[in-house]
Amino acid sequence: MDKTREISEYLGDVLVSKERIQEMVKDLGRRITEDYKGKKLILIGVLKGGFVFMADLVREIKIPIEMDFIAVSSYGSSTKTSGVVRLIKDIDVPLNDKHVIIVEDIIDSGLTLTYLKEMFSARNPLSLKICTAFDKPDRRKVELTAEYTGITIPDKYVVGYGLDYDGILRNLHDLYELDEKVYK
Ligand code: 5GP
Repeated sequence: MDKTREISEYLGDVLVSKERIQEMVKDLGRRITEDYKGKKLILIGVLKGGFVFMADLVREIKIPIEMDFIAVSSYGSSTKTSGVVRLIKDIDVPLNDKHVIIVEDIIDSGLTLTYLKEMFSARNPLSLKICTAFDKPDRRKVELTAEYTGITIPDKYVVGYGLDYDGILRNLHDLYELDEKVYK
């Protein structure tokens, strides 16, 4: 599908509204602030999808934190997972004196975060947890649970709030279902 249409032509129903997302981010920010008081914390955002959530979340955390980003390959232009995870950009600070939270946009099969957890665990952080904006537990291929989960959603391909379809639609405030005609 070409990428020059009106945004509304790509979108199905709103699954999670902007207001509900803002509430969720505030709540997670409060919990992380409480849990990590007096601790050295770094948040590691997973690009590209996690950048919108990361930007909102860090501003709801009211303690000093470091932040960094990694990039991994995602679905490419298809809406089905390949199951292959490729690290495109790493962080360059040591983690052995820090508590770490990986910040992800969505957990689907769980393969990406299983890979990232193993990779970061090997660097001996003081602790390692996962924070995700959205979760699709019905799609899990491996056992994986985030310590901080924003909103659980059904098994639908979603776009907006950082999540893309073929590189576009990340710049929407709400989370939408992708219209079926786009990929069928
Ligand atoms: P997993 O490894 O858990 O299967 O997938 C994680 C990654 O797949 C996410 O970070 C995201 O980039 C992508 N992904 C999974 N589900 C969706 C979805 O419904 N919409 C979009 N746009 N990306 C998704």
